[in-house]
This record gives sequence, structure tokens and C-alpha cells, in this order.
Amino acid sequence: MPAPRPLLVLEDDPAIAASIGDALAQDGWRVEAAETLAMGRARLAACNPRIVVVDLGLPDGNGIAFVQEAARRPDIGIIVVSGRAAEVDRIVGLEVGADDYLTKPFSLREMVARIRALSRRLDSVAALARPAATPQPGAWDIVGLRLEPTRQRIVAPDGREIRLTGGEASMLHLLLEAPENLADRASISERALGRRLLPDQRGVDQLASMLRQKLRESSAGQVTVAAVRGRGYRLAW
Ligand code: CA
Repeated sequence: MPAPRPLLVLEDDPAIAASIGDALAQDGWRVEAAETLAMGRARLAACNPRIVVVDLGLPDGNGIAFVQEAARRPDIGIIVVSGRAAEVDRIVGLEVGADDYLTKPFSLREMVARIRALSRRLDSVAALARPAATPQPGAWDIVGLRLEPTRQRIVAPDGREIRLTGGEASMLHLLLEAPENLADRASISERALGRRLLPDQRGVDQLASMLRQKLRESSAGQVTVAAVRGRGYRLAW
């Protein structure tokens, strides 16, 4: 049986790196550490991590560049950590493929819980026997979540109703019907925004962010919209 894949912590602050590393080691992870972008890239190639925890402020560059590289591997989970609370960092981090985001200071317990959730999600995405979304007329059931794009709503497992905008509902519908639940940005733009995709258009990414937020909130993080580099967006669970 192959050894379990490690978790890579890319963080330049030694005290934070040590406390993150200790907490995750206690939770059963084999932890690899890197302090710079350059070291992170080398470790990413060498140690085949399952999950990477990435600080955005690194001495030799912005961690976003690392997130982009790691996101080319859909089997790697990415958690961004930043001292900057700016919304724009969070959005950019998620848009370039991060799966989750923590703003410093955060509790180690919360970080461990988020990493457990992400790990479970990666396992369930990877499982060959991924349960298909069960379609009813106009409705799909995924891990306890009922998705009703034609009625512009999501019904959470506890019965709570989350309303969708027309654009969010159209994008969700497209992803539900698409092969592999994956759609390219041009198709999303045409179907959900009613216009051809322009090279610098951010509308699709903003829409994906909003839909991702609603799906994750209503499913406790189990269902998400993942950016698939060079291909578009996928509904993942
Ligand atoms: Ca830092």
C-alpha cells in the first residue's frame, strides 16, 4: 500500500509554520514545510502533497502564483492563509483554484476542521463510485442538497431555502446537465450572462464565486464550484 500523501505548509513565519505543523501532525498528517515560493515549488514537485496550506505573503513573491500552479492538479486540495482580510485576496485566491481560505489570526482547531472537511471532499470526488446526482423533474439531489435551478433555489438538508439569482440558477443548471458537471467559461457566459465571453471579462468568475458561496453555505462545504484551469468550472462534491 502506498504511503499516505503529505500535507505541505508554505509559510515564512517560523512560529506560525510550527504551530500549524504541530496541529496537523497531531491530526495524523505527515507535514512537509517550505518557507519561500521557490522552496514551495520544489516541494510541490517532489513530495506529491494531498493538501497544501499556502500563506499569500511570502518573501520572494505572492502565494497566488503557487496556488495557480497547484490548482493545475485537481487531486491537490488548496487552503489559502493570509494576514490580509481584504475581500479581493479571498476572491482572487478562490478564483485561481483555492478550495478554502483562512484569514489570520485563525484558530488551529478551525484550520484542522477545515482541512478534514477538504480531505473528505477530495476523497469523495476521487471515489470511482461517486454517487451521481439523482435527477427528479427539474430537481437534482446531491449529498442531501436539493438543487432546483428552474425554481431558482437550493434547499439545504435542514429544509432551509437559499434563493439563486437568474444567472446563478442558469449556471447551476448548465453544470448539472453537462458531462462531468464541467462547463467552459464561454458556455457559462452565453447561457448564464446572455453574452459572448470577452477576453478580460470577469463576470463568469464573479458568478462562479457567488454560486460557490451559496452551495458551500447550504451544504456545509460539501458541494462547491471548482475552477478547472484551462477548462472552466465544475460542480464538485
Ligand atoms: Ca507571510
